Amino acid sequence: MAECLFCRIVRGELPAQIVHETDAVIAFRDLHPQAPTHVLVIPRRHIATLNDLTADDAPLMGEIALAAQEVARLEGIAERGYRTIMNCNLAGGQTVYHIHLHVLGGRQMTWPPG
Ligand code: 5GP
Ligand code: ZN
Repeated sequence: MAECLFCRIVRGELPAQIVHETDAVIAFRDLHPQAPTHVLVIPRRHIATLNDLTADDAPLMGEIALAAQEVARLEGIAERGYRTIMNCNLAGGQTVYHIHLHVLGGRQMTWPPG
């Protein structure tokens, strides 16, 4: 996936403000933050959408959730609360086709989302 934006961030070819990383995932600040904290947690391995996950990816998704928890702790928003979102395909609002979990916090979230 040479042309994938987030694969390029994983390879260090594009700069990103990384806040947390493990062997399997990295977490970096969104370029256009929608809240005081807006971090994206992604797997290092390219997976285009949530629809492309297989049963073998279940541990990886667990790592993504744990990384989101760690980001919230590092950002000081864990206790007050935060929102995690994974958009899928066009109607879900996905614009970058390498799965990512948004971690948003530092302000009151509203429901329903837009
Ligand atoms: P999606 O719309 O696919 O759920 O989310 C993609 C997110 O990636 C958007 O919030 C967008 O601001 C962010 N984004 C797009 N290009 C870049 C980039 O080059 N660097 C970073 N850090 N974030 C990006
Ligand atoms: Zn990718």
